[in-house]
Amino acid sequence: MRTDDENKIISELLFSDIKESKNELLKRYPKRNLDENQLILRFAPSPTGFIHIGNVYTSLVGYILSKRSNGVFILRIEDTDKVREVKDGITQIINGLKYFGVEFDEGMVNEGESKGEYGPYVQSQRVDIYKVFAKDLVSKGLAYPCFSTTEELDSIREEQTNSGVRTGYFGKWAKWREASFDDIKKQLDMGTPFVIRLYSKGNIENKINTRDLIKGGITLSENDMDAVLLKSDGLPTYHFAHPIDDTLMDISFVLRGDEWLSSQPLHMEIFKVLDFKQLEYGHISPLMKMDEGGKRKLSKRRDPEFAVSFYIENGYPVDAVKEYLLNIANSNFSDWRTQNSEVDLLEFNLKLEKFNKAGALFDITKLNDISKEYISKLKAEDVYTRVLEWSKEFNTELNDKLVNHRDYCINIFNVEREGEKIRKDIAKWSDIPSQFEIFFDDMYEGSSKDVLDMDKGLQGDILNSFLDTYYFGDDSYEWFNKIKKIGQDNGFCIDYKEYESNPKKFKGRVGDVAMVIRVAVTGKKQTPDLYQVMQVMGEDRVRSRIKRYLNSL
Ligand code: GLU
Repeated sequence: MRTDDENKIISELLFSDIKESKNELLKRYPKRNLDENQLILRFAPSPTGFIHIGNVYTSLVGYILSKRSNGVFILRIEDTDKVREVKDGITQIINGLKYFGVEFDEGMVNEGESKGEYGPYVQSQRVDIYKVFAKDLVSKGLAYPCFSTTEELDSIREEQTNSGVRTGYFGKWAKWREASFDDIKKQLDMGTPFVIRLYSKGNIENKINTRDLIKGGITLSENDMDAVLLKSDGLPTYHFAHPIDDTLMDISFVLRGDEWLSSQPLHMEIFKVLDFKQLEYGHISPLMKMDEGGKRKLSKRRDPEFAVSFYIENGYPVDAVKEYLLNIANSNFSDWRTQNSEVDLLEFNLKLEKFNKAGALFDITKLNDISKEYISKLKAEDVYTRVLEWSKEFNTELNDKLVNHRDYCINIFNVEREGEKIRKDIAKWSDIPSQFEIFFDDMYEGSSKDVLDMDKGLQGDILNSFLDTYYFGDDSYEWFNKIKKIGQDNGFCIDYKEYESNPKKFKGRVGDVAMVIRVAVTGKKQTPDLYQVMQVMGEDRVRSRIKRYLNSL
């Protein structure tokens, strides 16, 4: 056993450069002058440059809760794992989240700058802070230097595995835990690399009953591992940085992914030895996907929809994605949305206790439906503006069309937008080019054409009659009456019931007549409302398409 004095000397030897005391440091980070209901939350990613939809989900929740409470939302960068870091990683995170309307009141604003009084907001710049606490812990015998090499740790692990005990650095396996002052001093004099470990006083047999803000009541086992607090490069582990940063930044509670739930007992022990007030946790379960009949986590490698770039490049309206994520978060969101279709999403009373506890399903088909619904409610001009913006970056050909044919494009977007039948076939802006094909002659040229299985002579008769009677000024009612008449004249049935009772008597139904015109004009068997399509195209284009088709018969 080392004496108190010996521990104190060791702490001085280890951290001779650290002069500030723990109390002096704590004074530099006073409690904020906010009332209890104002939530101070943070999002704390590593600067890996890759943002996934789970990050958007988690940060959106923090953003909404802090905004709704008139609180503070902080961006802290956890860059203690230097291997995973990429250049511009912070900027990519900021821009990716900003795209989804997630913005921060405090913390990093770009690679090198931050705002706020509780920084630095990049962990690698907080090393001296962590060292103040590490020094304090070592001086009190609550942490110690460990000189075990990787080979030694491997052999401990092997021995543990062979004898069927839990693996890890703890209890009697923790060789440096009770090392004498002289042994430690000797290693330090030799300049042997070391890490700083927690001197755990926990007992795995003891249970901790606690309440997670999302998962509700949970029971965990105490930590008994002498976890690494500072690595040999002097950087902290996540386990050490988290209690320190969240305490100094005066965070209200910790919202994080539930992969950290199993480390919570360790974190609780670190809070305790640091003499910090325990923080509450809300552990968010990962987004899942149905795959081959089972549920699995969304994966970077297997699921393109995992990456945020997928939504940006495909042109999903941000609000539709947000609505979908809120739907996943709280299942009562969709009812609320139906009743409050016009109001800002921030009005929704998002509740952590209503989150899915086990892992919410992320279903791209459902997202597409929500997005189609969302887009169907936009005005044509609004669609135009949004597609214009998106296409600047992601589809220059489409962008040219939008710029050069503004009114024509707005008219296209207006097809089935304001009448009784509202179209719901656009889920994302990248759906637009294929829908433009029928309207632009150059695109129409190259597009694949549907072929009708109807006698060519009959098709010719129908189309010629149509051209003879077609008048652009007709309303849809008059227009359709003419088609019915052409049908009747050519042996088609205009009455659905009559046709059903005796189909053999007719060449087909009036719908088949309209189909000939549809295919002649658009090349497709499926289009939005044909009358509206033709009105948008204009008389000349309609006539020339039909003539061309007639020639091809
Ligand atoms: N850097 C950690 C992560 O990305 C943060 C976890 C937390 O929010 O505390 O998983």
